[in-house]
Amino acid sequence: MATRKTKKENISTRSGYVAIIGRPNVGKSTLLNSFLGKKLSITSRKPQTTRHRILGVKTTGQSQLIFVDTPGLHINENKPMNKYLNKSALSVLSEVDCVLWLLDATQWNENDEWVAQKLTHCKAEILLVINKIDKLERADDVIPLVEAMSKKLPNLVIIPVSAKKQFNLNRLQQLIEERLTQGPFYFGEDQVTDRPEVFVAAEFIREKVVRFLGDELPYATMVSIKQFKRDGKLLRIEAIIWVEKDSQKGIVIGRNGEMLKKIGQKSRLAMEKYFGQKIFLQTWVKVKDHWTEDEDLLREALT
Ligand code: GDP
Ligand code: MG
Repeated sequence: MATRKTKKENISTRSGYVAIIGRPNVGKSTLLNSFLGKKLSITSRKPQTTRHRILGVKTTGQSQLIFVDTPGLHINENKPMNKYLNKSALSVLSEVDCVLWLLDATQWNENDEWVAQKLTHCKAEILLVINKIDKLERADDVIPLVEAMSKKLPNLVIIPVSAKKQFNLNRLQQLIEERLTQGPFYFGEDQVTDRPEVFVAAEFIREKVVRFLGDELPYATMVSIKQFKRDGKLLRIEAIIWVEKDSQKGIVIGRNGEMLKKIGQKSRLAMEKYFGQKIFLQTWVKVKDHWTEDEDLLREALT
């Protein structure tokens, strides 16, 4: 991560890194997108949608918050993919100024318990964010969980929010800002992420694959961008969707090519919104054997 330039006296700006941590599906990526007011990190109902550490930069007034969205921490480390993602998420903890630990207000489970243990040695200050309170029948229904958590972890600041409905996010932002140190901004005021545009484009396509296809297939998919070229007002993108087996290729393409067409159309719309211009998108599906079991390929696909 970027290092801060020499600190000067009487600098009035604050900036810092904020990790968003928690088990899969608690709403980490949704929270990042809500803070940015723009979709950067892909989301879905399926666990392990986020595979990358993604930086989302929010600059308001005198403060710059650099959020690090992380893959969900997964109790089951049998699969090489999960193990790799856990390592990637946990390594962030030592590099940030503040940690947002997300819970789902409707469900505390053994995976959360496991995350709690992983966080016991964390040196950065943790804010416990109880998300999805819009799903509770009454807002007060969150109280028992808040009480249980403050008994369990008496030193944590606890805050209930709804990332999706944008409830209490201003208060959360305030709590984060209070924990940032004084210093110059790390990123330009207009910058949203450190990721290149090709990365964002590939992620939008992967999101549609994850959302539209069966439960197992998304794990076996990765997307690479072959061409990314501005041509007058048009942005030309060629993408390859990689799968592990011929049978999966058939599923992604679908009957008469319908599925691939739908994936292409929906991701093109998402990209047009993000990049703010017309896009001409072409997609292919190709087979690459067993890439999810190969550490080198995993590293290539996940970093
Ligand atoms: P992640 O795995 O922790 O990054 O979770 P995602 O951000 O991908 O969200 C998982 C699912 O929870 C998606 O279907 C989101 O729409 C949903 N979700 C996230 N935040 C909220 C929230 O505040 N309220 C409700 N009702 N759903 C949410
Ligand atoms: Mg996510």
